[in-house]
Amino acid sequence: MPSSPDTTISITRTRSPQQRPADASLSFGKVFTDHMFLMEYDEGQGWHSPRVVPYGPLTMDPATSVLHYGQAVFDGLKAFRGEDGQVRLFRAQRHAERLNRSCAALCIPEMDAGLIRRSFEAIVAADHEWVPRSPGTSLYIRPTVVATEVMLGVHPAHRYTYFVICSPVGSYYKEGVKPVRILATDKYVRAVQGGLGEAKTAANYAASLSAQRDAERQGYTQVLWLDALERRWIDEVGTMNIMLRIGDEVITPPLGGTILDGVTRNSALALMRDWGLRVSERRISIEEVMQAGRDGSLQEMWGTGTAAVVSPVGELGYKDQKVVIGGGQTGALTQRLYDAITAIQYGRAPDPHGWTS
Ligand code: PMP
Repeated sequence: MPSSPDTTISITRTRSPQQRPADASLSFGKVFTDHMFLMEYDEGQGWHSPRVVPYGPLTMDPATSVLHYGQAVFDGLKAFRGEDGQVRLFRAQRHAERLNRSCAALCIPEMDAGLIRRSFEAIVAADHEWVPRSPGTSLYIRPTVVATEVMLGVHPAHRYTYFVICSPVGSYYKEGVKPVRILATDKYVRAVQGGLGEAKTAANYAASLSAQRDAERQGYTQVLWLDALERRWIDEVGTMNIMLRIGDEVITPPLGGTILDGVTRNSALALMRDWGLRVSERRISIEEVMQAGRDGSLQEMWGTGTAAVVSPVGELGYKDQKVVIGGGQTGALTQRLYDAITAIQYGRAPDPHGWTS
């Protein structure tokens, strides 16, 4: 039963605000703000009691079902403080809708998308002083839903908790946009057709850890996932969607159920179409990418995601081969996308698609 959009959100402010860290000391996801948003679901009652409360631990019975079977979904978005002092959320509605799609995939009762948006706004309003001010910094917002029924049966729970926590994060690129080395793996797979690949759920991140550790041991930063069936078609990279430019065509794998429908992916596609570029959402094999790397037609390759916006790929490894892309430098289109998206996020440029609020 979805909650009504006009549900009142109660606010209890902390009596012991913490000392905020200096912007220069911020990294990712280590420090949390003074408040959190909470709401519960109970069978028969639906989602209820939306509230902002002081940040603190959630106490759980050891038999709480999420701890055993991982019925958990989350999302991740950011609030940015512009030079004009205004704080803007980037694509809050799209993140709220994706959270609901993840809920549906895990048999978690959906919430009212308007109320999810209001939860983002309420927590950012309560902790607005925590939105950092230095260039490139932001407030990361992590909405999460977990099954809180105390039971060990394997079935969808009858109780859930929705919480939203926030973390001030430093600039991803303190020394300018920097290319990374990625490794395509045919040893591990992340997601299968008919599985959970397009949901933002804990299991997908657990499934990525061994491959990520192997890649790091070989000197790479991230894993490029191939499809599970043929281990041939590129899917996505680490916690980003993947895009590449071969000649005058920009290519990104289609949303086919195994990859996340990235909000940054969607924003980058919209901008490139606005710019009149030839953009294809199509399957592309690792052989085609490696071949284009060898013959020099692979001019740029980059990941897209909320954390980095874009992350240029300077080198790609696959089996015992390696290709260097664009001389290992950040390509012009990658940089243009970074500049255009961040300009909208920080309110330095007009926002023709109405992405900020
Ligand atoms: N794929 C995966 C697996 C991710 O975790 C993320 C990060 N949310 C992305 C892609 C990029 O999505 P977004 O642009 O919405 O952050």
